Amino acid sequence: MNIHEYQAKELLAKFGVPVPAGYAAMSVEEAVEAMGKLPGPLYVVKAQIHAGGRGKGKFKELPPEAKGGVRLAKTEQEVREAAHEMLGNTLVTVQTGDAGKQVQRLYVTDGVDIEKEFYLALLVDRATGRVAFVASTEGGMDIEEVAHSTPEKIHTIDVDPATGFMPHHGRAVAAALELDGDLAKQAQKVASTLYAAFLGTDAAQIEINPLAITGDKQLMVLDAKVGFDSNAMFRHKDLAELRDLTEEDPAEIEASKYDLAYIKLDGDIGCMVNGAGLAMATMDIIKLNGMFPANFLDVGGGANTEKVTAAFKIILSDPAVKGILVNIFGGIMKCDVIAEGIIAAAKEVNLSVPLVVRLEGTNVQQGKDILANSGLPIVPANDLGDAAQKIVAEVQKAA
Ligand code: ADP
Ligand code: MG
Repeated sequence: MNIHEYQAKELLAKFGVPVPAGYAAMSVEEAVEAMGKLPGPLYVVKAQIHAGGRGKGKFKELPPEAKGGVRLAKTEQEVREAAHEMLGNTLVTVQTGDAGKQVQRLYVTDGVDIEKEFYLALLVDRATGRVAFVASTEGGMDIEEVAHSTPEKIHTIDVDPATGFMPHHGRAVAAALELDGDLAKQAQKVASTLYAAFLGTDAAQIEINPLAITGDKQLMVLDAKVGFDSNAMFRHKDLAELRDLTEEDPAEIEASKYDLAYIKLDGDIGCMVNGAGLAMATMDIIKLNGMFPANFLDVGGGANTEKVTAAFKIILSDPAVKGILVNIFGGIMKCDVIAEGIIAAAKEVNLSVPLVVRLEGTNVQQGKDILANSGLPIVPANDLGDAAQKIVAEVQKAA
């Protein structure tokens, strides 16, 4: 689960991480109000979306020469203009994809005099199985390019969970950022408070880019991207409230209500499968037959009519879907029960695209008979390869 920059900064500030003052705003008037609470003379108006690259982003509705999603402002007029141009408009960045994201919230924050920009992140390093700092002197808006062309400028410092954060980790972070004297001390403090925040919130990622040295030689977090481990959210009710559903795919939200593991993909064939492994295999074999899956969907072991119907509706809510492949192994759930569920669901959603069903397992013959006698145009398949060939052929025939 991800949160917005302003939420991340409020959270980090509670752990003692240095962030500039700022306030969230949902309207132009609130942005002006927020500005009034800040000392000035420089303000920054920032689009709040769950994606980075905002500074270099472009608004779909504005001319290409218009500024991006991070704007400096000196006067109330400039704050007003920036807020007005951003709110309600669609910001496209390297991380949003072509569709972009609609800006519904802003953050108005102190404009800082920047001397240098660093990169500092915390994540779970899967290779070592440890929480690790990733640090670079080359922070700012081109970090992806740095990682790509000069990877030696990016340093990783992992923390042994048995010792936790130790002073030497702080010194290593400061050294990686090539800091000494008072700035090195500040970097050690930033590293230790970030580590405490990471553990304390069950974070999956904390990315600070940039961590800046200001004109008066203070380290400040100017941008923060924080994501949490979804499996730990049950013990962070306060953090769960920070979830912004408008940032998430509506079909995925709907699926989570029914406990369906659904992930939207770019292809044409909707898939309804039970078991993650079988779902992966089904997606692979669709590709092998020359088309692409429109989704990953695991209906789980105890798929009943209600779940199957919800799954059908979710798959069909995607206008890209040109055909559906159901591939279900009846283990605990018997094939005849699944067949009844498929028929009920297909009738309820008024199925408009070809449907191929492959059933295997307990009571498979009864299941097949029920489908065959349903009067619905369901194409039966015998095995996985047969099912994939049939759905591809059906979709091509329909096109
Ligand atoms: P993004 O990473 O989405 O582009 P950032 O918050 O990192 O957004 O902002 C982009 C750039 O804008 C930063 O690298 C920094 O140079 C500048 N910036 C961001 N916040 C401030 C601020 N409070 N004061 C001055 N400059 C800022
Ligand atoms: Mg940034």
